[in-house]
Amino acid sequence: MPSPAEKLGLVPASMVASQLYCEYKVHLDLGRNRPPVPGLSRRIARRVVLEESDKGLARVSVYGEVMGVPIVASPDFAVLGGERVVVVGKTAIREPPRRLAADMVYLYLSTVLLEENGLASEGCGMAVVVGRSEGCLEALLRKGVEEGFKPRKDGCGIVYTEVYRRAEAVGRLYRLLQYWRGERPPEPRPSPSRCAKCRYKGLCEHSVATT
Ligand code: SF4
Repeated sequence: MPSPAEKLGLVPASMVASQLYCEYKVHLDLGRNRPPVPGLSRRIARRVVLEESDKGLARVSVYGEVMGVPIVASPDFAVLGGERVVVVGKTAIREPPRRLAADMVYLYLSTVLLEENGLASEGCGMAVVVGRSEGCLEALLRKGVEEGFKPRKDGCGIVYTEVYRRAEAVGRLYRLLQYWRGERPPEPRPSPSRCAKCRYKGLCEHSVATT
């Protein structure tokens, strides 16, 4: 039987990050909505696509293998220092403004892939920028470019930063990627509030939804 990664062909980093919410939901998504994508990785001409913008932030898409799983990631921004990425970032508009564990999983994957492609290294920065509104997010990004994305918390939102350490990233990703290699079954994470909002609440055997 093909592993979930073989079934998909190329795993979006967002699907790995969403395992933290409920891995069983990812498993059901794969069965229902995601036909196999054979050869998708071969259709991507370059392993890294970097586009510099005029605001001091670049867009980057990167793919490659992380612990045997083919992954593609497109973090929301990157700050370049010459040919290298010095900060990799994820943005969100969220109330209250806070960083989610899934944001960091996405950034760990992105930075490991950038490192594999020679564009980032141990010690580079990872930043999660969360604004209360679109305007707040813009302001936080502008400040981040000016100041080099230092930690910040104010009325507009937060900038959370972490230094990239490969060993830590690999440690955080190991168990998540075991699922994609087919080394363990998906784990449900039922809770009344989570299941109540889930589109599979009527057919999932682990659902504890009461509404
Ligand atoms: S119903 Fe609950 S346990 Fe089942 S997939 Fe949805 S969130 Fe997960």
